[in-house]
Amino acid sequence: MSAASNAPGEMPAIGEVTDRLGRPLRSLRVSVTDRCNLRCNYCMPQEDYVWLPRQELLTFEEIARLVEVFTSLGVEDVRLTGGEPLLRRDLPRLVKMLAADPRIRDLALTTNGVLFAEQGEALRAAGLHRVTISLDTLHPEKFSKLAGRDTHAQVLAGIAAAHRLGFPRLKLDTVVMRGVNDDELCDLIEYGRGVEAEVRFIEYMDVGGATEWSLNKVFTRAEMLKRLAQRYGPITPLNENSSAPAERFRLPDGAVFGIIASTTTPFCRSCDRSRLTADGLWYLCLYAQAGIDLRKMLRGGAGHEEIATRIASIWSARMDRGAEMRAATGHRGVLVGIEQLRQDPHLEMHTRGG
Ligand code: SAM
Repeated sequence: MSAASNAPGEMPAIGEVTDRLGRPLRSLRVSVTDRCNLRCNYCMPQEDYVWLPRQELLTFEEIARLVEVFTSLGVEDVRLTGGEPLLRRDLPRLVKMLAADPRIRDLALTTNGVLFAEQGEALRAAGLHRVTISLDTLHPEKFSKLAGRDTHAQVLAGIAAAHRLGFPRLKLDTVVMRGVNDDELCDLIEYGRGVEAEVRFIEYMDVGGATEWSLNKVFTRAEMLKRLAQRYGPITPLNENSSAPAERFRLPDGAVFGIIASTTTPFCRSCDRSRLTADGLWYLCLYAQAGIDLRKMLRGGAGHEEIATRIASIWSARMDRGAEMRAATGHRGVLVGIEQLRQDPHLEMHTRGG
């Protein structure tokens, strides 16, 4: 059902919903915890944060109930994220509950990989379809500096496990920062080839905990393409008609890689993603300042229909174009200062799931 068919003030019926720019409610990122076992300096650089109160975290049953409402409205892609999702105890139990919903076409996980070698098999058995593992560098010392922990070997073991377990369409995500890892693009592509993974280079974004962000640290999409073309020769864009955040390209030797250029080339016009935090706030945009409290509805006794109607009516009114609006601002700096982050942990990338 599209918003255009709603009379003003009329509640949309339950079914497929689209927003005011015609974007469907198709993909949901579910953060299962705000905690992380790394301290990446582009995401969560401090040791300590204002953590979400434990009693406010959604139980697996509550997450599954909300996801079911979303899938009844057209959501087909569900990605578990965090914080670090593998820190949430017994995650395979949640995966099994979600995998039972036939409306979910793509049930994926984004992880830093540290605990994946331990948990990959149980996750696969529980019905997880796909996995994306973050890998910013191939050098252990650089990793320790960047992530504040000494666990590079575990990340590589996690990637090897995902490959061995036969997860299809394995992806490796790299946040590219000038002077930090922009010299590793080709090595990462070669590494990805070895584990049959597609590497996706992400432009450094100014969101949430990126309190050390500055525009000159952003290694842009254009620079990435130039660097790769110098080594491999002409690069062909795949020109897919997709709402996926990554634009995909092919090298002359056939290898495919992606670029997520949210900073210089935002893709708001096709963005069908929304985000559910571990404590049940629903965000319509990564840049949104406020979320909608679905936990309160759920714990207040609202049923499926009532929650679905609320979600549908909010999505139908959605106009968000956060990354485009940010890009249109002439002078850019850190989006949210540390004091503001301390007051509202929901503004953190690790709370709303990246
Ligand atoms: N802990 C998991 C992981 O490391 O993949 C999942 C959560 S993490 C917040 C999700 C994604 O957000 C990761 O791929 C991470 O690299 C990305 N991310 C975090 N901060 C970012 C930033 N400032 N710019 C671009 N990507 C960022």
